[in-house]
Amino acid sequence: MIRSLLFSNASSFKQVVSPLYMSAKHNHTMNRLKGKVAIVTASTEGIGFAIAKRLGDEGASVIVSSRKEANVNSAVSSLRKQGITVEGVVCHVGNKDQRKQLLETAVKKFGGLDILVSNAAVNPAIATTLETSEDAWDKIFDINLKCSWLLAKEAYPELLKRGGGNIVFVSSLTAYQPIFPLGPYGVSKTALLGLTKAIAGEVVHDNIRVNCVAPGIVDTKFASALTTAESAREQTLSIVPMRRLGKPEEIAGAVAFLVSDDSSYMTGETIVVAGGALAHL
Ligand code: NAP
Repeated sequence: MIRSLLFSNASSFKQVVSPLYMSAKHNHTMNRLKGKVAIVTASTEGIGFAIAKRLGDEGASVIVSSRKEANVNSAVSSLRKQGITVEGVVCHVGNKDQRKQLLETAVKKFGGLDILVSNAAVNPAIATTLETSEDAWDKIFDINLKCSWLLAKEAYPELLKRGGGNIVFVSSLTAYQPIFPLGPYGVSKTALLGLTKAIAGEVVHDNIRVNCVAPGIVDTKFASALTTAESAREQTLSIVPMRRLGKPEEIAGAVAFLVSDDSSYMTGETIVVAGGALAHL
């Protein structure tokens, strides 16, 4: 009724309302994170890059990082072109000196640290869980779990200096439901749910919140083995009620919520972003 009074025809309604709707939908410059400094690991492409961009769009100063300098340089230049305040550091999360460098960059360039997003993970094994080699098992748990713990441990004093902050771990749908051939990888991601709860309970009085996001199958290089061939893609999507892959930006939105005051009464939780796929332990 109101619509018909205000707009004599459908096209004028669209002309006036759609741009408003679109700008609200895509306007991430609401400054929820203004003045905050964020480190995102493994952030030169895929989900990490989308998280870095989203936190930057919301006003944070961001440090992007990954193993290869060329990737770091290209991510920094792409984000700067998009108006984001960003620095880049080469950091293999398994390298102690490079992790130190990552934290020092936050302090030197931006004055401290408020947000840590631990996003790096590997899966060197394409085998059943019992046929996975010990080396592959160690690598998976080293990078996916131990380095997340180390990053949180090393970031903690910096968060304390700021009077609090946020840590987000990036887990996976496979934390809840094993997807062959990602058995051990899934177990490492299940452990991250426990790590989230363990640390959250211990730092709650330091004004530090610790949460986790569990993406479903997201359209990145990492998931390409599950999604490139048509048959593999169909089988993969059969567990997803939305019948499509997630977009890195859809994971980034959940992370931005978790590190903002909009989730101020949440800690120790995991948000599953997986197109409706079943996720429970
Ligand atoms: P991706 O698109 O393949 O991106 C990987 C990023 O990680 C790149 O920037 C890469 O850059 C960097 N990287 C790889 N190993 C690293 C290491 N040891 N230290 C630091 N950086 C490293 O991967 P993604 O799909 O975005 O995955 C990101 C996170 O989401 C992972 O934790 C993954 O387990 C999780 N996840 C992904 C999916 C999915 O379907 N894609 C689903 C659930 C969970 P360099 O090569 O320069 O190091």
